[in-house]
Amino acid sequence: MTQASLMRTLDANSADFEQELQALLATDLTVSGNVNSTVHAIIADIRARGDAALVEYTAKFDRWQPSAASDLELSKTALAEARARISEPQRQALEQAAQRIHQYHEHQKAESWRYTEADGTVLGQQVTALERVGVYVPGGKASYPSSVLMNVVPAKVAGVAEVIMVVPTPDGVISDMVLAAADIAGVDRVFAVGGAQAVAALAYGTETVPPVDKIVGPGNVFVASAKRAVFGQVAIDMIAGPSEILVVCDGQTNPDWIAMDLFSQAEHDELAQSILLAYDDEYIAQVQASIERLLPTLDRADIARQSLTSRGAIIRVRDLDQALVISNKIAPEHLELSVADPDACLPKIKHAGAIFMGRHTPEALGDYCAGPNHVLPTSGTARFSSPLGVYDFQKRSSIIYCSEQGASELGKVASVLARGESLQAHAQSAEYRIKD
Ligand code: NAD
Repeated sequence: MTQASLMRTLDANSADFEQELQALLATDLTVSGNVNSTVHAIIADIRARGDAALVEYTAKFDRWQPSAASDLELSKTALAEARARISEPQRQALEQAAQRIHQYHEHQKAESWRYTEADGTVLGQQVTALERVGVYVPGGKASYPSSVLMNVVPAKVAGVAEVIMVVPTPDGVISDMVLAAADIAGVDRVFAVGGAQAVAALAYGTETVPPVDKIVGPGNVFVASAKRAVFGQVAIDMIAGPSEILVVCDGQTNPDWIAMDLFSQAEHDELAQSILLAYDDEYIAQVQASIERLLPTLDRADIARQSLTSRGAIIRVRDLDQALVISNKIAPEHLELSVADPDACLPKIKHAGAIFMGRHTPEALGDYCAGPNHVLPTSGTARFSSPLGVYDFQKRSSIIYCSEQGASELGKVASVLARGESLQAHAQSAEYRIKD
């Protein structure tokens, strides 16, 4: 490992590489006992005292005092007014992004299906939407209108009847962009609450907040811990770790572009991870020079610098094939293939949340407006999970419709298996349907 430049450089062909890679990817996501006990106390209090507790926690953590619980709900008119208040370019950008996200997600809709067997027995699957979903939109330190679109639009495309959004409004300050995005995405009700108390209200319901079937959306450690705690009462989407980008480059992309793509993760927070895989020493030096030159120009230079120095890396690989093998080991949330022929790489990619193909597809476009979802599996979980999608808001019921003949034939099979399990009522129930 060398550390001469801001980002450490690893050599994929050195003897220590596997160990170095493991150390690079290690994240400690353990939530402190203090956070967990705070969260459990808040959840218990919301369950016991409902709105009264919700109002008190809002006053305590978000520093504004609702005069009654009804103040916590924002009216549809308030959303429409926010939409009218933002600038024309902002409104158009949100509308265009929403429209593209909608169009993309329409392709994900699962349909019910059935088939009929020779004896007339019908088997199938009926797909239904969740009835009521809660979307947590973070708002403690910054506002995230893109999170509104990415979480609400797939639910609406799935046919969720009622989408309830919660968003904290610290010091009573509400983001017009967030409310405008809620209006554009078609949110049904919005409550100005946040943190563990908002998650608890969505999971168990209060006098004013209706209980939901599933809670989606990112948030800080209190929100994540609360989502974990209410899982089972309601479904949840995932617990996201710090954001990551892995760029694979053939050395032909403008190094400034690569540097900025790495920064686009690093500026999120100090724990975000940006990794570049490249195989040309001269090119690596050019990217390092771009990083040094461009980093100080960022508004969030301090955060990005901390992220790049503590968790970033440039990995020198032998060739493109070795880069893709390492990429699969990392299973990144975002994978940029900044190469001449990304299509040729695609069959070799086994694990990645989203794959950005070619030099003209920076992650930033996918984050906001390309159409696919930006809620993606982090911390290597792309090995077994997928982007948030319409399928997360749909569920399936099995359909079994036996004909008389079909029941008679199946009854014989079921009878044998049920008696093998010593379940007499099962066996007799099946045997009643056997025709003589
Ligand atoms: P937030 O809405 O998640 O949290 C704010 C709430 O935290 C407050 O309303 C309060 O109730 C609670 N809280 C704060 N301090 C507390 C304390 N000491 N005890 C109990 N509760 C407390 O907003 P945030 O803090 O700005 O965090 C947003 C998070 O969401 C960041 O970590 C950000 O990186 C993440 N994020 C992730 C994505 C993604 O797609 N993965 C997108 C946007 C944001």
